[in-house]
Amino acid sequence: MLKAPFIGAFFILVRMIDLEFYSPIEPIFHPLFTKEGLNVFIKRDDLIHPFISGNKWRKLKYLLQKAESQKKKHLVTFGGAWSNHLLATACAAAKFGFTSTGIVRGEEIQNDVLFLCRLFGMQLHFVDRESYRDKKSIFKRLFDPDPSAFFINEGGASAEAVEGCAELVSELEETYDHVFCACGTGTTAAGIINGLAKNHYSALFNGISVLKGGDFIGSEIKKYTQSDSDFVLHTEYHFGGYAKTTPQLLEFIKRFSSTTGILLDPIYTGKMMHALFNLAEKNYFKKGQRILAIHTGGLFGLLGMSERF
Ligand SMILES: *Cc1c(COP(=O)(O)O)cnc(C)c1O
Repeated sequence: MLKAPFIGAFFILVRMIDLEFYSPIEPIFHPLFTKEGLNVFIKRDDLIHPFISGNKWRKLKYLLQKAESQKKKHLVTFGGAWSNHLLATACAAAKFGFTSTGIVRGEEIQNDVLFLCRLFGMQLHFVDRESYRDKKSIFKRLFDPDPSAFFINEGGASAEAVEGCAELVSELEETYDHVFCACGTGTTAAGIINGLAKNHYSALFNGISVLKGGDFIGSEIKKYTQSDSDFVLHTEYHFGGYAKTTPQLLEFIKRFSSTTGILLDPIYTGKMMHALFNLAEKNYFKKGQRILAIHTGGLFGLLGMSERF
């Protein structure tokens, strides 16, 4: 039998904040790509973890390590009622030995994502849209005297998140002419752009804004990247705005999923992949080019729209 101190050491090892994960790159075959002579690939960050999925693990990794090094025990974060980030934080908190609170924007409701957050032990506080804007003051009001509480911004947006997302590039073993990724806050985009520069990759980064009027994402990206970083932000593929959709987008997702075996969500990855197809049709790419799409995960967004398909 193990003596108690050894058992203690075992738990410390288990709770080390890192995740062995699997994010393979797969080719996508489609008659359009064959016709245009394009080689299209998808990096399956959606397979990183069922709940700490896609870019959310990359964004959380260094924040969790920082929380641990500051001896924080309680993660407090923010999101909408279908937030992939809330779910990822709830699961990661449970996995790595933290408690968690999710501050949810809007009136109190129940849905599949919040249900899973609760199962992972997250305490939920609903806050009206007006007060929600001032996240620091909500944190202060609810947790200020609590030295164990650790503030994580909405979506995990932070320098730590940018650093985590940059690591994606060091996993690439081949070269690509274009990299495609959906953008909400632009944090993931900034990380990948920095990773490309650091690894001397010449691929052009293409961000797809999932929000209407997404030009501001360009300035968000520039806050975290070198001034001479080159990237393209496509702002015309928002389908009406954040969490908005159209029958055309849903039809595209259905067709893509039923012919590839890869699910896309209507909030982020569906818009990104639709943009890639549309740009291929418009001869945006040159014959023979290699294009890498990042599947940033977030498939629970599908559940919120299941009755619309
Ligand atoms: C959160 C999320 C994004 C957006 O990431 P940002 O870093 O905010 O730009 C993209 N795709 C999916 C699936 C997400 O859940």
